[in-house]
Amino acid sequence: MPTLSERDHAVLWHPYTQMQTAPLPIPIIKGEGSWLIAEDGTRYLDGISSWWVNLHGHAHPHIAARVSAQLSTLEHVLFAGFTHPTAVELAEQLLEILPDNQARVFYSDNGSTAVEVALKMVLQYFHNQGQPQRRTFICFQNSYHGDTFGAMAVSSRGAFTQPFWPLLFDVEFLDVPVPGREAEVLAQLDALLLRPDVAGFIFEPLVLGTAGMVMYEPEILSEMLRRCHRAGVLGVADEVMTGFGRTGPLFASGLLNEQPDIMCFSKGLTGGTLAMGLTTCAAPIYAAFLSDDKMRALFHGHSYTANPVACAAALASLELTRADTCTDQRRCIEAAHSAFRQEIAGQPGIRAVRHRGTILAVEYDPGEDTSYFSRLRDAFYQLAIDNQVVLRPLGNVVYLLPPYCTSDAELALLYDVLRRMRALVLDFLPAPTLPEYLHD
Ligand SMILES: *Cc1c(COP(=O)(O)O)cnc(C)c1O
Repeated sequence: MPTLSERDHAVLWHPYTQMQTAPLPIPIIKGEGSWLIAEDGTRYLDGISSWWVNLHGHAHPHIAARVSAQLSTLEHVLFAGFTHPTAVELAEQLLEILPDNQARVFYSDNGSTAVEVALKMVLQYFHNQGQPQRRTFICFQNSYHGDTFGAMAVSSRGAFTQPFWPLLFDVEFLDVPVPGREAEVLAQLDALLLRPDVAGFIFEPLVLGTAGMVMYEPEILSEMLRRCHRAGVLGVADEVMTGFGRTGPLFASGLLNEQPDIMCFSKGLTGGTLAMGLTTCAAPIYAAFLSDDKMRALFHGHSYTANPVACAAALASLELTRADTCTDQRRCIEAAHSAFRQEIAGQPGIRAVRHRGTILAVEYDPGEDTSYFSRLRDAFYQLAIDNQVVLRPLGNVVYLLPPYCTSDAELALLYDVLRRMRALVLDFLPAPTLPEYLHD
């Protein structure tokens, strides 16, 4: 009898995976709190919320109950010409907690489509207003906004998108204004804002996830948005990863004193239960699509737009996220991360430690030899798995992004793996060569 992994290997094609060389996938048959339970009974601690989606733990009974009730009430209805209670309720509740200027909610299916919709809103906003020359986006070097074509175009020109480079529309890249580089980046932005063709600035607020959890401060982002607004350029906050409490407050944009015009959400939106994306916008954006002319409408929609079951999952998850318990859980994780950061920052083998909210990133020092990078990544991954912990290192950066229900004892297990990784790095590093005169 072939195992589940072998049957998978015969018929499936996995994301971001070189199928020829990848080890067989680990079969998971159950989820429980922060744990994933494999077919053979091994329990794995989910240190990255299953690719940043899970908020309150796996198979959460409250979300399961709401989803189950919705399934036997209304599973789906088309969303053009029709509406339903969970879609309305979710939009009302979100607008209550989003930055004040956000006025409308547009549903789609995932983070990439939420970004596609945002890009189309920006471009058609200017088109509808007779300014079609405004069609260039500004984005950050090393940014990641998804895997569909528009989202790839506004993302880093990295190795993953290389086969498609010739087909990606041109954008202007800015450096990330990490501490110490703010003035330089403002100058780059000012130069771009002089151009008549710039339409929007899309960014991952405060934390660039895929870039390696690169972090920058709310003050500089607020200043960049102010300058965009003065130049008539729209700001698009891609909160697909940062939304729903990851950075501490409910939204990273909550820390800004100049608000984005458009916002994108997915991942934590349904607590990690079902795929859904949404794009919200400020009133003037929405107003630019209102007209007696049908052609000014936003012609975008997916078959499963505003799926009632996904909306029910999102409502249940939002209830949990807005409860005091969740705020306390996030504070506990934040405090624990902060203590661990103080413990290991500056130690040999550690290049930098970054932390914001429930996200912690350790950048290990792989030494001079860059061929260590990929070997180190695989060794890190395996070390975590051998310790029954799921982590996905980004090169020499290993981050924790745990579900909010992760306990102190579980966090201790994650930190222990990060300490072991440091030991591994020190083994990888060649011993320092002593100066001649010290040899004997
Ligand atoms: C994951 C991610 C996306 C893409 O979301 P998908 O649901 O995977 O398509 C977009 N933007 C950011 C910031 C992300 O982290």
